[in-house]
Amino acid sequence: MGFDVFAHPEFDDHARVLFAADRVTGLRAIIALHDLTRGPALGGCRLRAYASEAEAAADVLRLSRGMTFKAALAGLPLGGGKSVVIADPEDKTPALMRAMGRAVESLGGAYIVAEDVGITVADVDAMAAETRHVSGVSSGVGDPSPWTAEGVFLCLASAAARFHGGLSGRRVVVKGLGAVGWKLCEKLAAAGARLVAADIRAERAAEAAVAFGADIAPVERAHAEPADVYAPCALGAELSARTIPELGAPVICGGANNQLATAGDGAWLAARGVLYCPDYLVNAGGLIRVAMSAIGLSEAKARAKLAALPKTLASVLDEAAARGLSPAAVADEQADPRR
Ligand code: NAD
Repeated sequence: MGFDVFAHPEFDDHARVLFAADRVTGLRAIIALHDLTRGPALGGCRLRAYASEAEAAADVLRLSRGMTFKAALAGLPLGGGKSVVIADPEDKTPALMRAMGRAVESLGGAYIVAEDVGITVADVDAMAAETRHVSGVSSGVGDPSPWTAEGVFLCLASAAARFHGGLSGRRVVVKGLGAVGWKLCEKLAAAGARLVAADIRAERAAEAAVAFGADIAPVERAHAEPADVYAPCALGAELSARTIPELGAPVICGGANNQLATAGDGAWLAARGVLYCPDYLVNAGGLIRVAMSAIGLSEAKARAKLAALPKTLASVLDEAAARGLSPAAVADEQADPRR
């Protein structure tokens, strides 16, 4: 294997870690179920050309823990799980996705799979041919990203109101203009924010310039762009020893999972006076959406949970301010089902 799961720095007494392979399709996948205390583990499947198994394992161990916390803070009777497929997106086939569906089925319902980066609704449909333990199929709730973007927007607007007195006219940097980031830009533009866009796909940033009148920032400097709010909506570890000293905005609120590179970075942000809105709190909209089919949550209840995210954020920020702690630490405390 080349690495030791139990000694892995991201291992947090995960309930189960399954390595799945299929010779015919070339499937190489890892499914991590972090905690099942509150219910079955619901979480997306991510497909990436990881540089190594160790990198994939680090991603799935961290992401699955984040799902436990996300479900708990959103008040859902679900545990936390996630899966990663180690593959070049160019090599993705329906057969590969079906093999992944069989791996999910082998867990007998302890894990419910949905989409994440690199996985489309069509891929979820292919997995659903092999397992019932899936959410987000085209005939069901479909793509959850509009709900994620809505929740991030509601939280970002409330954080901007708290810190800046409002969102209109404020400069917001959005890094990552995919399913979540693009829809977030639409809402921010409609609310009168001034946008700065960054994406490794240069053409996507150019489209944002046309669609929203956005300025374009180079990807590697987006975090340092002078702004009122920074919204990371690409991949994880955006807030790190490299980027934190250079941050150009005093408020961070975005859709990406695992924004903090290390657990200590939340405290560091707070010490620098940066208001960090915990990622798994503000981006829970997609989970709330897929929970509808996974646990039979009604649309009305799901919408109420989505609308409640800014209130949960306010309670975390208030408590953090009152106790002199970072919002990240308070959110972890409130969300940890093992405490
Ligand atoms: P996506 O694949 O649709 O979009 C990701 C975008 O980020 C793409 O445009 C890509 O080109 C860009 N990107 C990738 N690496 C980048 C980099 N280094 N710098 C700048 N841009 C980069 O994914 P998505 O569904 O929009 O998800 C975005 C983030 O939000 C992920 O971290 C995901 O885990 C998280 N998230 C998504 C959902 C959801 O409902 N889709 C829910 C919760 C959390």
